[in-house]
Amino acid sequence: MLAIKEWNWEKPSKRERKEETFRCPYCNVVVRTTADTRIVDAELGAIKYHIFKCSQCSMPVTIGQDGKIIPPSLFLPFEDIKHLPEKIEKMYVECRKSFSTECYYSVIMVARSLVMHIAVDKGAGANLSFIEYVNYLETEGYTSRHNRPWVDKIRERGNHYIHEIDEATKEDAARIIVFISQLLKNVYELPQMANEV
Ligand SMILES: [Zn+2]
Repeated sequence: MLAIKEWNWEKPSKRERKEETFRCPYCNVVVRTTADTRIVDAELGAIKYHIFKCSQCSMPVTIGQDGKIIPPSLFLPFEDIKHLPEKIEKMYVECRKSFSTECYYSVIMVARSLVMHIAVDKGAGANLSFIEYVNYLETEGYTSRHNRPWVDKIRERGNHYIHEIDEATKEDAARIIVFISQLLKNVYELPQMANEV
């Protein structure tokens, strides 16, 4: 059963106000501002949350004692990549959404599937093994010997989390998205940009 706690909303004195730098989840601007309200566990007296007013867009942003920002950002983390085929774009967005909702295992699994979908989109046959898709991308020149190590990382991390009962880490998920975004850029965005020059 959910324990119902009594929380007090307090207006701290100017000296006690918490100052914080954070990226506003509403306007995506990094702001430095002070909280004029805090929420305290009435029983324990412990501070639970600070409430800030974004100095850019004036929206209320709550930050927990653990540093968690509420609400989560309305903007997708990591960069947009242009010229992606619809299906690939959808998967890449899913990857980034999973990251912002802290579903790190999903990030890695979707990134892994993306590698296969990219290879198929570029002409690889269906039903190949994962390593065969990775090799296909290299043989066809979509990846080079230089970026093979990070494509292998996507494979290796994917395998790790499929076979080990291990919680995927935020660091692993972040690294994998950076790798996959680089791959998407090389395969789709840069060649298209070259056409536009
Ligand atoms: Zn804002």
